[in-house]
Amino acid sequence: MSGNWEKVYPRRSGDGGRGAAACVRNIEVSFHLKMRDYTTVGIGGAADRVAFPRSPADVREILVTERRSGRPVRVLGAGSNLLVADAGVAATVLCTKKHLSKVVFLADGSVVAEAGVMLPRLAVLCALSGLSGMESLSGIPGTVGGAMTMNAGAYGHSIGEVTEWVELADGEGEIRRIDARSLRFGYRETEFPVQGVVVRAGFRFADGTREGVFSLMRQLNEKRRGNQPWGEKSFGSTFRNPPRAPEGAGILLERAGMKGAREGDACFSEKHANFLVNLGRATAADVRRLMDRGQRAVRERCGVLLVPEVKLWGEFDA
Ligand SMILES: Cc1cc2nc3c(=O)[nH]c(=O)nc-3n(C[C@H](O)[C@H](O)[C@H](O)COP(=O)(O)OP(=O)(O)OC[C@H]3O[C@@H](n4cnc5c(N)ncnc54)[C@H](O)[C@@H]3O)c2cc1C
Repeated sequence: MSGNWEKVYPRRSGDGGRGAAACVRNIEVSFHLKMRDYTTVGIGGAADRVAFPRSPADVREILVTERRSGRPVRVLGAGSNLLVADAGVAATVLCTKKHLSKVVFLADGSVVAEAGVMLPRLAVLCALSGLSGMESLSGIPGTVGGAMTMNAGAYGHSIGEVTEWVELADGEGEIRRIDARSLRFGYRETEFPVQGVVVRAGFRFADGTREGVFSLMRQLNEKRRGNQPWGEKSFGSTFRNPPRAPEGAGILLERAGMKGAREGDACFSEKHANFLVNLGRATAADVRRLMDRGQRAVRERCGVLLVPEVKLWGEFDA
């Protein structure tokens, strides 16, 4: 993996509050890292710089510094719902997955997870403690931060149902804890009352048994393997399921003849047409062309306009 290791963000002492004295500890930053190495679909040009915070206070420090420097910031979790343009992204990418990975089980039965914790890992830790509530999310290859932002979910459940609070850091140097009652969890989106980067979240799960929780996780993940391309490079669902159509985006794409359709090495999966897979050397331009074809075909055949679920970063031709 290319890129330099540099110390560019002087970290403040204490809790990093405004006006605190600068101290000697620093934050890891690399330059010109290819985003294809940081996204599950394995596509994407370089980001100007990528910062790897080790704590919520680091996230705040990066946001404050970048804001003062006038540089835009993008937040990256596991990159499992992202398509980055071939020309890359002119921004500082704040990557949570590498180091923001602490999970704490509190005596009152609640669980606190940092933004970069992977959902499958959180699910296994909960199962080992006999806590139930993460089973349906255990096969989603995203981070807590990405899942909170997307209100990730499966099999009729979503992360919002088990969330007690989230903490958001912002470029003004604040970290605010927001109670779940002030969040609006929608279909694959969450509305926060203030803007910011998710740095931690608190969860409450139900009591269960280890065996029961592991058994349900296994069942759901077998089901997932049965109807989704497993182990292939993809970003999950390409399009959102349309709100008023009785059929999901996958069925609509299939009816429009898009199952197996290709542009270069980008292909709508034979197993589930709403999963777009990278067969090898697909480019973001290939993916974008295939998505456009899929949208056009579904509009012409079914009269429905599909809206992308995948987030796009960088410049794409219109
Ligand atoms: C094989 C496969 C299966 C999938 N199955 C499902 C499924 O069943 N259900 C489902 O809901 N999704 C599914 N997904 C999609 C994806 O895993 C989820 O959307 C996941 O929540 C994205 O998390 P991430 O950490 O990868 O986010 P990223 O892809 O890194 O980012 C997604 C968005 O969230 C923002 N973001 C990330 N972290 C933060 C943060 N800390 N603070 C603020 N914003 C942030 C990013 O800026 C971006 O806009 C699947 C994906 C794949 C590849």
